[in-house]
Amino acid sequence: MSESLVVSGGLLAGQIDSGPLDLRVADGVVAEIGPMGSLVDKGQVLEATDALVLPGFVDIQVHFRTPGGEESEDISSGAAGAALGGVTACVMMPNTVPTIDNPDLVNEVLAIGRTTPCDVYTSAAITQAREGQQLVDFDALYEAGVRVFTDDGTVVDDANLMEQALIASSRLPGSVISQHAEHSEMVDGGIINEGAVSARLGLKGRPREAEAVIVERDLRLAAATNGRYHVLHMSTSLATELVRLAKSSGVKVTSEVTPQHLILTEEDVERLGTSGKMNPPLRTTPDVEALRVGLFDGTIDAIATDHAPHSPESKDVSLSAAPPGMLGVETVASVIWTEFVETGLMTLDRFVALLSTEPARIAGLTSQGQHLKTGAVANIAIFDPQERWVPERGSLQSKSANNPWQGKDLIGRVRHTICRGKLVVADSVLV
Ligand SMILES: [Zn+2]
Repeated sequence: MSESLVVSGGLLAGQIDSGPLDLRVADGVVAEIGPMGSLVDKGQVLEATDALVLPGFVDIQVHFRTPGGEESEDISSGAAGAALGGVTACVMMPNTVPTIDNPDLVNEVLAIGRTTPCDVYTSAAITQAREGQQLVDFDALYEAGVRVFTDDGTVVDDANLMEQALIASSRLPGSVISQHAEHSEMVDGGIINEGAVSARLGLKGRPREAEAVIVERDLRLAAATNGRYHVLHMSTSLATELVRLAKSSGVKVTSEVTPQHLILTEEDVERLGTSGKMNPPLRTTPDVEALRVGLFDGTIDAIATDHAPHSPESKDVSLSAAPPGMLGVETVASVIWTEFVETGLMTLDRFVALLSTEPARIAGLTSQGQHLKTGAVANIAIFDPQERWVPERGSLQSKSANNPWQGKDLIGRVRHTICRGKLVVADSVLV
């Protein structure tokens, strides 16, 4: 009994009407649930009064930079920030150096990811070295545990290769082909969104249509092959409408959006400087509005951060020279809560679906995003919806500081995190 954890007095997702409850964790799973106070003598008590007890969050797009970019982030520093954000599973993108495109490298990353305070999984590339020339060995990578395939950072330009990848996904159950949808020639040399701000700053833009032409092509290929397709970090009204239509006609498509594309626009780039630069870029107010509609009507399935650390030295340059990307994994739940749930725009159920259940389903993570019932794997975020805090430079776990949310007043914070039954964050501090 002594190894048990008792989360005491919180409101459980899906059981809010029952009032405050105790939940005991033992041997990696939810062992029992009882009335508040009934289990407190059965293990280490984690105070959850006035807090929500939720399935751990799942971030299916992070860049933890291992191997090759460890000066910006590594799996340990990334996972530490994730755990503080209540994230119990992350899926890494394969645009590392070298590229994660073979089972040996997958096994190395997964071995590290089993030792960190958040489960770290990895996707693998679609083409070898992400060069867009030769497909990877999908079967061998699938055998090694990979379910998400993507050349993220770059698009798969070649329609024939994309078609072959989708055919592979159609015969490998639970696998998905994810696309960074920006037509490479259309965005070549582009720095920020093509529009009023790029014109004012005299910068080459990345047109919104560059996303739509790739999504439209890929949806046709997905329909023709019966493959599973996922749009990474969708950013425009154009792509949102295409995905909505494809879903209604039965194409196996899912999509995700980042907090930054839901909240910030191209107008924020001047204020944020290089921390406001990412690909696809921050767009326009009508795009933000369309993405929000997509979020509420189910066109968009999940929120993912595209957590993309870059060392301060590499970002401390001009907008043109800086690499694209922003941090997000440690703040995602608080940012979404503040912007959407606190304001009454989003229900708690939709919050849980977008941050946990649906991303887990998309990435095939069967032990994540589960309803908190007896026997479920204990991946749990205990979230205080009232706590106010401000993320400051230097106070977060990432090795990098390219954070658009720095200085923002946030409402709601993760109090405790339990990953696979183990207490990894207590009172908002890493254990
Ligand atoms: Zn990307």
